[in-house]
Amino acid sequence: MPPPKLDPEISARWARVRGVLRAEVGEAAYTSWLKPLALVEISGGKARISVPTRFMRDWVVSHYGDRLLALWTEQNSAVKSVEVFVQVGTPRPASALAAADGPNTGAATSRQMSTPASDAGALSDISAPLDPRFVFEKFVVGKSNELAYAAARRVADAETTAFNPLFLYGGVGLGKTHLMHAIALHTRERFPDRKVVYLSAEKFMYHFIRALRYQNIMAFKEQFRSVDLLMIDDVQFIDGKESTQEEFFHTFNELVDNNRQVVVSADKSPSDLEGMEERLRSRLGWGLVADIHATNYELRLGIIETKAETLGVELPGKVKEFLAHKITSNVRELEGALNRVVAHSTLVGREISLESSQDVLHDLLRANDRRVTIEEIQKRVAEHFNIRLADMHSARRARAVARPRQVAMYLAKQLTTRSLPEIGRKFGGRDHTTVMHAVKKVDELRKADAAFGEDVELLRRMLES
Ligand code: ADP
Ligand code: MG
Repeated sequence: MPPPKLDPEISARWARVRGVLRAEVGEAAYTSWLKPLALVEISGGKARISVPTRFMRDWVVSHYGDRLLALWTEQNSAVKSVEVFVQVGTPRPASALAAADGPNTGAATSRQMSTPASDAGALSDISAPLDPRFVFEKFVVGKSNELAYAAARRVADAETTAFNPLFLYGGVGLGKTHLMHAIALHTRERFPDRKVVYLSAEKFMYHFIRALRYQNIMAFKEQFRSVDLLMIDDVQFIDGKESTQEEFFHTFNELVDNNRQVVVSADKSPSDLEGMEERLRSRLGWGLVADIHATNYELRLGIIETKAETLGVELPGKVKEFLAHKITSNVRELEGALNRVVAHSTLVGREISLESSQDVLHDLLRANDRRVTIEEIQKRVAEHFNIRLADMHSARRARAVARPRQVAMYLAKQLTTRSLPEIGRKFGGRDHTTVMHAVKKVDELRKADAAFGEDVELLRRMLES
């Protein structure tokens, strides 16, 4: 959008300069570097052009400075020099209303002028949309998530960087994304000028790979450099992708070094992120690591009450207790169960009762009942092979205890969603490679030895039922 004050004749010339440059440098480079340029004025033989960041200014001056001047002189011989300067303006992610309400309405023009950076696929595109329901007020706090909640609040309230990075981790559906959105929403409200970027690790990778393909890695980096609060959700998905890890590492370091807040979530602790480079793993653990544990009964009850209130439904106490008691896997399932119960009652026009709830949820209930813990597996397997439970954790290597231990590790891998390191830890702090070896060994033995195979199969069925 041309600034309103420009003379139409000058605007037309500027458009021609840009047109020629575009043809010369190609679409990708043009979009990354030249499109964001805004002509502010021509005065005293000088064309004054603004860019959103210092990095961009340096890049444009060193790569396109001479061409810019040459083209301008061609268009208008009165132009003797070109000045590229930084116009600090924050492209507002939020509504136009927020911009108008801003403390600095007089700067609206300069803001608009630097906004074209977003055409280059900048922040407004990169940050994923936020779910307005995921606010702190709607997050129910209990023992299992109080640390994560307190840390998230602190980050959102802090005038300066709190712990950096904040690393939130926990199993699926326990509220990591909810807390991250809450941080973003709160920060945007309290500090409207801060650039807040929230995205999934997969999106991060997607943008990165796209930037590689279209050769605008510099612009990609630049976009992240100007962020005040960067949140990357589910970083376990960065596992194994080396170039992305590398880029993430650099982006991350640079932001932290510049005192920008970084918040990261994953389904495991930094040290358990297999497939992630050691230096990245350890770097991720430098700030505050807060884990969200499985919910307990009280918390689930609290969540049901809050959600029912939000939905505007009255639930009989018995139904609430029933749900809190039975749907233990995670909060997402709990919410899903509640929604189903409510939807069903609305559809058939009957009151919600314990019986109707049991009916509607019978498949879900079965799945929740079937969950096996590593402890149960160890107990069953120890009983079956007639060894002491303590030998599941002990360092004894005698075949008589080592083999059952391997079977238990194997079943833990098959029947639970635990990662290899997690399983290893539950077996007296063994290494994940030991677990991997056990899984392989048992698989081989099952094939080679029919009786052994039947044993394992029997144990599995027992544990699953
Ligand atoms: P995760 O990202 O850890 O997989 P989510 O943040 O997506 O989990 O949470 C799943 C659902 O459960 C969301 O709808 C979220 O609002 C809800 N939820 C999770 N924990 C809580 C909590 N403590 N209080 C209220 N809602 C919660
Ligand atoms: Mg999530």
